Amino acid sequence: MVKKFTVRSNLCQEPSPPLPAAPLPWGEGGPPDGGPGEASVASGTEFLIGLRWFARVLLAAAFILVLRADRKQFAAEGPLFRPVELNVGDSQDVELSNGKKVKVKVLHLEEIRDELCSAVRRAHVRVEVNGESMTLTSATYQLPVTIAGVQVDCPITKGYLRDSELNHWGLAKDVRLRLWPAGSPWIPLGAFVYPVRQRWFASATQMANEPVFVDGGDIPGSRKIYYHYGLDIGGSEGNVEVVSATDGLVVSAGLQVLPGHKDTPVDPRYDVVYALDDQGWYYRYSHLKTIDAALRPGQTVKMGQKIGVLGKEGGSGGWSHLHFDIYSRQPSGKWGIQEGYAFLWASYHHQYAPKLLAVARPHHLIWSGRKVLLDASLSHGKGLRYQWAFTDGTTASGAQVQRLYKRPGSYSEILKITDADGNVSYDFAVVQVIDKETPQQLPPTIHANYSPTFEIKPGDPVTFKVRSFRTTDGNETWDFGDGSPLVTVKSDGNVKPLAPEGYAVTVHRFKKAGHFVVRVERSNKQGPKAVAHLHVLVGN
Ligand SMILES: [Zn+2]
Repeated sequence: MVKKFTVRSNLCQEPSPPLPAAPLPWGEGGPPDGGPGEASVASGTEFLIGLRWFARVLLAAAFILVLRADRKQFAAEGPLFRPVELNVGDSQDVELSNGKKVKVKVLHLEEIRDELCSAVRRAHVRVEVNGESMTLTSATYQLPVTIAGVQVDCPITKGYLRDSELNHWGLAKDVRLRLWPAGSPWIPLGAFVYPVRQRWFASATQMANEPVFVDGGDIPGSRKIYYHYGLDIGGSEGNVEVVSATDGLVVSAGLQVLPGHKDTPVDPRYDVVYALDDQGWYYRYSHLKTIDAALRPGQTVKMGQKIGVLGKEGGSGGWSHLHFDIYSRQPSGKWGIQEGYAFLWASYHHQYAPKLLAVARPHHLIWSGRKVLLDASLSHGKGLRYQWAFTDGTTASGAQVQRLYKRPGSYSEILKITDADGNVSYDFAVVQVIDKETPQQLPPTIHANYSPTFEIKPGDPVTFKVRSFRTTDGNETWDFGDGSPLVTVKSDGNVKPLAPEGYAVTVHRFKKAGHFVVRVERSNKQGPKAVAHLHVLVGN
């Protein structure tokens, strides 16, 4: 307990999400010194100073009221985008949030399914906006793109519904599009924060309709597919603070529920918090190890306020992550998922202003002997150089690289991006390869994480946790990438997903500053291996 508390207090020293930059009501030069002064024998000068101070307090109060009114305004006007649902061949006139009108048409829809379980891996939508046409890729870590004075994205297409248990998206037609004015933020910046106090892509994620895979759930065969419509952010169990993304009303905290939310997405569970914002969107924070004691249904929660601690409770599949999702009314009138990857991206950029972010996701699932296209083109940065280092020791360069996988295993391919100023960022492309001859012999999968993820100094203790799935053979071996000896640990192989000691834990101290690519792997007795990488930045 004490140890965990120590790590938590480190987390508190992480850079807090800055609130929107606002001019100080008293202008430059800081707040006035002292209070209103001695009231008893106020000289003329003292009286004037008192008056000025009083005026400043009034100004400050007025400013806070304006700021609040501003927030309310956001809520009153609703989101900055306009959603539309269209069948292929249909067109519609849409009034954007700035009053401008555009004509949008869906020309074509193509959904690409994999060979192993026929899950949609890519959906391409040909759209026409004000007579200009382009092809969008639906969800799967894509961000809105600009065409004809409009930003547009495609959160969902109908093919995903064919093999899902439920229509989580509330989609009623072939395609849903969201449209923003060109140059508009995607969410009101300053009214939404990244919901975990953790570095971007510090661990595995399952997002934007990617089939779930970390716990070994992406397997061959015909069945219902769990396309991850929510936002799973992997992290270190018990060590990562989860915060409220927005201001809101707590509707449920664990099994305590506020009455009056029947026929809404609220479905209470011991490890889940639901909050409702001013525009009627429900936010779900799931798999929490603990829920903050201060949260009570009926109370308000502030943006950035602690909700709880990241865990693997409930239906997590045994891997530690925050499941965060957003539900709102959709054009169909039904409740449905509001795709949130772009919101996470925008809020993280607003809070932390990273110069570069490498993106090598979503993961891939292929038969052995097949090729896969590794794609880094969703990375963020200017004038980027892309370098790849593969699990077999070979390397390549370029934003897109095609690669053949002969042997089964869970691969993690290193992507490094560099800009002209020498800034770097890393991500890791997960490729799960299954042997076509023995598809029932599934290679292991693996989840690794570390904490803290910000502000690590040479000599600081860093906690590394790992858990393997689909095997109880062998051990996990860590290579911290700093020349230190390998460290062997053994996780439980996810035999009991909710086992409190399921992850194997080790603490490492980096002696020097730098970027470290940490590797951990485990094999089963047939030989196939699961590999994971983590990028650890140690500063001076
Ligand atoms: Zn989830």
